[in-house]
Amino acid sequence: MTPELTEPREDLEQPSRQPLTGRTCLVTGGSRGIGRGIARELGRYGATVAVNYRSSETAAHEVADEITEADTEGTAHPVQADVTNRTEIEAMREAVHDSFGPIDVLVNNAGITCDGTFQNMTPEDWHRVIDVSLHGTFNCTQAFYDDLETVDHGRVITISSVIGKQGNVGQTNYAAAKSGLFGFTRSLALELADSGTTANCIAPGFTCTEMVDAIPDKIQDELRAEIPLERFAEVSEVAGLVRYLASAKSGYITGEVIDMNGGIDL
Ligand code: NDP
Repeated sequence: MTPELTEPREDLEQPSRQPLTGRTCLVTGGSRGIGRGIARELGRYGATVAVNYRSSETAAHEVADEITEADTEGTAHPVQADVTNRTEIEAMREAVHDSFGPIDVLVNNAGITCDGTFQNMTPEDWHRVIDVSLHGTFNCTQAFYDDLETVDHGRVITISSVIGKQGNVGQTNYAAAKSGLFGFTRSLALELADSGTTANCIAPGFTCTEMVDAIPDKIQDELRAEIPLERFAEVSEVAGLVRYLASAKSGYITGEVIDMNGGIDL
């Protein structure tokens, strides 16, 4: 099979109606990469989207404008906060509530890498990665917990990684953070179950973003060769799964870690 045969066909996916109309979604790290694709997808299907960013203000405004100006019911606004900073998150919560009211869907997407083999890993690089991916998810989920527990069909969707399952040379910090999100999701799902709100985790394999562009070409080729589908994921594929999980239709899926890795661990 050629990789092209498995690639997504966006022309086949025009929404015939707006299943997320009336849903308010917050996407952390929505300014670039996978988060940007998720924000666009949710907006395309009618959601009101709060596009969180840390420093990429222009990019966040661009994606928000793109969603609002598209010929759909979706609208969007950028909201600044470093997910490691609880004071900034509190200010973001107030801004989101003032503009939209409570959120229905939280997408914990913000994440970074600071790679280095274990013996060369500085405590700063260890903490930086865990702070954004794991503590950032804790901070944002706790800040919006009351919303998510109260609304109908509340959703917490967290972007982990295949590295959380498999580990990777040079990524002990990233793997620890991403596998921590599995246990976080399962426990949160149990605590939220009474309210009908679900919590799920997506574990994508390598996905075409700046994070992957930064990997040298030769190593990218080696990585691709290990993937049964022979290609990296497209952002739109991760975003499409988030869109489904954000919808009311996904209500019987909770506490799951959903793999999306081209068959790499089969
Ligand atoms: P990018 O580097 O392309 O984008 C990262 C996003 O996270 C940016 O919008 C950035 O905002 C935001 N961000 C980073 N730190 C913070 C912070 N402290 N507070 C708020 N926002 C922050 O990454 P990807 O799109 O590639 O990755 C997105 C998620 O997907 C991450 O959690 C990553 O671990 C995961 N993932 C990625 C894979 C891949 O192959 N790309 C594979 C599997 C999982 P700003 O620009 O404003 O700083």
